[in-house]
Amino acid sequence: MNFLMFGAPMAGKGTLANMLAENYKLPTISMGDILRASIASGDENGVMAKSYMDKGEMVPIEVVCAMIKKRLSQDDVQNGFILDGFPRTPEQLEVFVNEKIANIDVVVNVEVPYDVLLSRVVGRRTCKSCGYIYNTNWNLGYEKCPKCGGEFGMRSDDNEETYKNRYDVYQRETLPILDYFKSEGKVVTIQSAEAPEESYKNTINALMESGISGMKEFLEG
Ligand code: AMP
Repeated sequence: MNFLMFGAPMAGKGTLANMLAENYKLPTISMGDILRASIASGDENGVMAKSYMDKGEMVPIEVVCAMIKKRLSQDDVQNGFILDGFPRTPEQLEVFVNEKIANIDVVVNVEVPYDVLLSRVVGRRTCKSCGYIYNTNWNLGYEKCPKCGGEFGMRSDDNEETYKNRYDVYQRETLPILDYFKSEGKVVTIQSAEAPEESYKNTINALMESGISGMKEFLEG
């Protein structure tokens, strides 16, 4: 089953993707993580991408398309995946569809009110070793990653000023492409203002009732 996670930045797509991935043994592919790995490796594309990401702007299409095509051609994603962060503009959607980069079975559209999104921004922490996402708003008192004991880090674009731009860019450039997936009957929308476990339960219930071909059988294993 090929999933695409859809929603505003801070909607919890990455957290839900990780929970789905763990329970259904699917690899996750996050465009943002691929870009951050490229920055960390110090390669030329990474240096260029960082200047866009720090402002909350879209990285140029040639760069993201080349990276995602490479990732989607690897062996481990041929029997299902959870994709997050691509396509993200009408131009990227056009390339995705015309070049048949991948088939998507279901789009999980995660909706969260703006004030809740904003309240999550400064609390997000990501494990530097395994990528586990934690939010200090959950009040669980974690100082180290509960999964692997790794150090938590904060993303340089997780501040209110950059967030406002990231949200505007989402509304203007990303949200319109949802219509394409709606027209294909592939969108399952969930409300996700609650803590992750509650949102995850809602997601599974919505997927169960979605009527998407093969979904019930997939979830029931
Ligand atoms: P994310 O981790 O999904 O919040 O993405 C972080 C940042 O990476 C975004 O604000 C963009 O600057 C960049 N980015 C992620 N996905 C894409 C994409 N599909 N196209 C262009 N830029 C992207």
